Amino acid sequence: MLTAVITEVYCHRALAHRAFRVSPRFASFLSGYFRVIVGTDPETWAAVHRLHHRYADTPLDPHSPLERPPLAVLLGSPFLFAKARKRVPAGSPRGRRDLVVRVLVAACFVVLVGFVQTLTMLAVHLTCYMGIMGLVNTVGHLYGRKPHPDVPGYDIAWLAVPLLGHGYHNSHHAHPAAARTGPLDSVWPLLRLLAATRLIALDGGRARTPAAECCPASAS
Ligand SMILES: [Zn+2]
Ligand SMILES: [Zn+2]
Repeated sequence: MLTAVITEVYCHRALAHRAFRVSPRFASFLSGYFRVIVGTDPETWAAVHRLHHRYADTPLDPHSPLERPPLAVLLGSPFLFAKARKRVPAGSPRGRRDLVVRVLVAACFVVLVGFVQTLTMLAVHLTCYMGIMGLVNTVGHLYGRKPHPDVPGYDIAWLAVPLLGHGYHNSHHAHPAAARTGPLDSVWPLLRLLAATRLIALDGGRARTPAAECCPASAS
């Protein structure tokens, strides 16, 4: 859940959509965490997501459930991401330091809780993380209300609680730079807390971030 929340707050809302600014030190921590745990750089994640917004539900969409079997989108997030990352400029390179930290983190868990338990944790982590991403990409483009008829995606308000604000997927496609996706956005209280502690600045969005330099200028 922590990885999913960091992906949503930092990679999605801050980097991909520039909904708020993140303090440099906090951004460095979040970026380091994401690179170690997920194994890719946040800038590439943001650039692939911007491809989705630019080409949503067309043949160029990296993961549209209308253009390929919904089950493939639900279960195949890592493969679809690997395919789509070839279409965006390379983010900051993956260094040996990230790999060393990954190995050290895994070794710590093996020593602290045991090998089988570590494998179980990894399986649960992957299932939950990929499950949330797959559900957002699948359900958000197939079922629900359409308050913005000319925009891709659908809204199912209550899903915003377990899916980190993404129940309002149609609204998100209509207003991608909004820091709050809707009334039941479960990430919003956390953003208010981060803003109160000055780790982020909710100043109406459009803040400049590293994604602005690495992502296709025309993507939105
Ligand atoms: Zn979407
Ligand atoms: Zn988005």
